[in-house]
Amino acid sequence: MPHRDDPAMIPTMTPATAPAANEVPALRLSPPPFAGDVALSRIWDALPLARVVGGAVRDALLGLPVADIDLATPLAPEAAAEALRAAGIKVVPTGLAHGTVTAVVDRRGFEITALRRDVETDGRHAVVLFTEDWRADAMRRDFTINALSLDRDGGVYDYAGGLGDLKAGLVRFVGDPATRIREDYLRILRFFRFQSRYGRSPPDAATREALRAGIPGLARLSVERVWMELRRILSAADPVDGVALMAELGVLPAVAPELSAAPLAALRDAGAPADPILRVAAMLDADPAGFAERLKLSNDDRDRLLRLRATPAPKPADDDAALRRLLADYRRDDLIDRSWIAGAPERLRQRLVALPQPVFPLMGKDVLALGKAPGPAVGRLLYAVRAWWLAGGAVADRSACLAELARQACVPSPSAQDGS
Ligand code: ATP
Ligand code: MG
Repeated sequence: MPHRDDPAMIPTMTPATAPAANEVPALRLSPPPFAGDVALSRIWDALPLARVVGGAVRDALLGLPVADIDLATPLAPEAAAEALRAAGIKVVPTGLAHGTVTAVVDRRGFEITALRRDVETDGRHAVVLFTEDWRADAMRRDFTINALSLDRDGGVYDYAGGLGDLKAGLVRFVGDPATRIREDYLRILRFFRFQSRYGRSPPDAATREALRAGIPGLARLSVERVWMELRRILSAADPVDGVALMAELGVLPAVAPELSAAPLAALRDAGAPADPILRVAAMLDADPAGFAERLKLSNDDRDRLLRLRATPAPKPADDDAALRRLLADYRRDDLIDRSWIAGAPERLRQRLVALPQPVFPLMGKDVLALGKAPGPAVGRLLYAVRAWWLAGGAVADRSACLAELARQACVPSPSAQDGS
């Protein structure tokens, strides 16, 4: 492997002097983004030549919240780790072979990766060579808006035209789209992740054609990967156009033939939350259990999808008794989600939120207290009284339910003895 991780080959860096002296940032932001980030400052103290890269730069420029800050450094990974440790920073060798270490400061992890260039690709993974060349590192990144880097002084370096594309809302591959997709077919789905989030212009003809032509390569991706990307795409504030394009180009049917794009627009227009599982529940034209199994959804995602699909849709015409019945049997959140899918008006959700949670006031021991022997009959009686309670709109209180229990059990009403 042509990793340049032999310490003998690590160049000696003189911090602060030659940080790409011949390189001029395309833009200098003042104040520098993240200037108040104390943890990041400690990393920059240890690695003055490091730059923030990828999504954090893009989102900072857009004024969006930044969750993860990734950095790149012209130092080889071992040298970067050494400099961090020398500054008293904990280093976890999370991906040394790919050039990545994670620095942990104030319990936050920062991924710091050596600059790389690809020397070989196989449609998903690349063999990389470490380099000191920022431009080479930018050119191996997927999209121009993801290829920006930011130094400590607020200098933004733009090797691929990302600043202009960010302004235009254009998700554009770095280099030739067909080539970049053949290097790594995951980039097809990544395209739709970023198009759904940042795209305000449609892709050009060459990009569309490359996305379409790459579809057979999607079969190389694991289903976990596909679902991870699909989930991200469907988490965007407004994925309607991005997913419509995915469907039009044949990418959606290739990765998730169970999903149709059409219901997304109605959900958006109704103001439904940007919730990927709610969206899948609306888009799914197939058995949800089979879908969850095929794409290996997490247990939480699967359970929620199955629950959503099994929950009836509350209707605007339902009176309060009908809504209380639903609330007695189903989760309030699921009923609200169903109302989004059904296109119900906001007023229905307000009513669902305002109604108190009905709780059936009897338990098995109330049946036993009547002198009934433990056994299946206890459950049957309780079930029958609960059915009566539901039929009445789930409002009967404990003493009314006890009276009904006594009536159904053919024993004298216990209400006289019951103190509660
Ligand atoms: P997000 O906010 O969704 O995390 P991100 O830009 O941080 O967006 P990541 O998947 O975390 O996306 O990747 C970080 C960066 O690494 C990207 O911005 C991009 O520069 C580069 N990158 C990641 N995956 C690829 C890939 N498959 N091909 C090329 N570059 C990639
Ligand atoms: Mg990221």
